[in-house]
Amino acid sequence: MMELKTATSIDAMHEAGRVVGRALTAVQNAARVGVSLLELDEVAREVLREAGASSPFLGYRPSFAPTPFPAVICASVNDAIVHGIPTGYRLRDGDLLSVDCGAELDGWVGDSAISFVVGRPRPADLRLVETAERALAAAVEAAVAGNRIGDIAHAVGRVCRTAGFGIPQGFGGHGVGRRMHEEPEVPNEGRPGRGLPLRPGMVLAIEPMLIASGKDGYHAAEDGWTLRTDDGSRAAHVEHTVAITESGPRILTARETA
Ligand code: MG
Ligand code: MG
Repeated sequence: MMELKTATSIDAMHEAGRVVGRALTAVQNAARVGVSLLELDEVAREVLREAGASSPFLGYRPSFAPTPFPAVICASVNDAIVHGIPTGYRLRDGDLLSVDCGAELDGWVGDSAISFVVGRPRPADLRLVETAERALAAAVEAAVAGNRIGDIAHAVGRVCRTAGFGIPQGFGGHGVGRRMHEEPEVPNEGRPGRGLPLRPGMVLAIEPMLIASGKDGYHAAEDGWTLRTDDGSRAAHVEHTVAITESGPRILTARETA
């Protein structure tokens, strides 16, 4: 059963989303050549701590996972698509890093992700990231009452496929609320006009995942968490938590500039 959120609840979710936005900005600012993924996790922990927020990632253990997740961010480097566990790995020049973060504040969850290049970027990586952001923007635009889940899915898929990028099947967005993963699923590819009708009060995490080679293949790494591309090509992942309101889509995890 999918819970529709009141305007007051959406305001509360926006506060959780602001914490996520701040954490991601802090991580991006701290991410430079030589910095380790564990150090970036500590940066995000500090932002959550200061805000009095907890992490819905820390200790999370879905059915596929062999171990509880040990961190407050997922840090996925280069051919890692999502769910990368922060390790002592130190960032190198030109690494493509995707960071996913969640925060729980006053019982409400926000969930968001960014991708960016550390140091000198390859043009191909910039194009991948720019396309991921464009797919997310198109999907947010489709997140209006009267549309359906398939319209969001189609918006993501169309932008990714038109640019020639692959889409890992079986992973995508989801409802968000008091828990990080609620109904409904929000696929990254689909048919317009199909699926659940969108209604004011629905809050969705929309999260395009793109594979640079144009192939869709991926596998779980040895740690049981990290998803990597089968052909070693690079991947990008971006995400916002978005509320569907009477007056249109409202992004709850926007990163406010300092
Ligand atoms: Mg996320
Ligand atoms: Mg998510």
